[in-house]
Amino acid sequence: MTEEVTTLIKRKITKFLWDDTSSMVSAQTMLSQVTSGGMEILDIQARNDAIGLMKPKSYLTLDDSHPRWAKVADILINKSIPKSQNIPDDISRVNTLLQTWTPAIQNTSKLPSSLRDMLKTAMKYRVDLNPPSPSPDLRNQMPIWYHKGQDESKHLQNNGKWAKCQRINHEIQTVGEMYTYVNETHGLRHFPRSNCACQPCRRARNKGCENPTKCRKAAQGLLGTLHLKWKLTELGDTDTLSLNENEIQQNIQARDTGSPLLFNSNIMSSSMLTDEFRVFVNPEEVSMRNAIRDDYDEQQANEELTVSVWGAQGDAKCENVKATFAIWYGENDPRNVISRARGNS
Ligand SMILES: [Zn+2]
Ligand SMILES: [Zn+2]
Repeated sequence: MTEEVTTLIKRKITKFLWDDTSSMVSAQTMLSQVTSGGMEILDIQARNDAIGLMKPKSYLTLDDSHPRWAKVADILINKSIPKSQNIPDDISRVNTLLQTWTPAIQNTSKLPSSLRDMLKTAMKYRVDLNPPSPSPDLRNQMPIWYHKGQDESKHLQNNGKWAKCQRINHEIQTVGEMYTYVNETHGLRHFPRSNCACQPCRRARNKGCENPTKCRKAAQGLLGTLHLKWKLTELGDTDTLSLNENEIQQNIQARDTGSPLLFNSNIMSSSMLTDEFRVFVNPEEVSMRNAIRDDYDEQQANEELTVSVWGAQGDAKCENVKATFAIWYGENDPRNVISRARGNS
């Protein structure tokens, strides 16, 4: 919907509400909920934006059903990166929302206005893929080049001699492919020199690689620039929070019989990039550490624990009754609490 039409509809709504006279209550209040003094009037701008968000959603279907128009959009978007960002070749450009580069979306950009609007809407509503705990499968599929999880304080090697070799000669695109390349088993008689005659080195040289040993070392360095959350090799990737097979089965039966379900606190992402995009992502709340529980200390969990709870309350008939409470675990225990509550809190 064009801006002119949006303004026209807004005007017509106001005219209808106030019977052609000047409005008595601000438009913003009229949009809010009845409980907040509003009348829940149609917010035409928000409705348009919600419809507009369906386009990036469709564009970000990155599995086999990636729409045909989105493939054309990929080409156009990937070609509209400002030169200043220094992204040299087309093969390193996969998707702006998975990588650190951004296309030019100002009105003077060569991108068609429909794609500019799509990207602006995605930016406005902070569409992002940044789950608190990406599954190993998800990490595998991320593009290794200009990976959004790269630690910028490290020496990034997206564009050096070996990066180009890995992209062009070894055809490496994803973190998983890079990891496989780095961990390729050496031949029996491998020597770390450019003319090593072992099978893997010979294979790499046949692809055009000048020095497979140096190339693999650089690849390892590039993987090392990823933040902890996106690395494939870190220990402690999994925790014991997810339900076991037995508990999952019990939950299935409980759902049928209406019995209580056991809460599954596993927050590991799915393995599908498409399913992990979210709107309203606050970049300040995104952590680059993997959200997993610290090592489970069984001994500590079995220790007997005495907790004392004390509370005092004022006149319960009073509307804003005050109460004080304290929870005591032990001397100098950081979990000790003393606090006040008021009314129904
Ligand atoms: Zn070798
Ligand atoms: Zn190489």
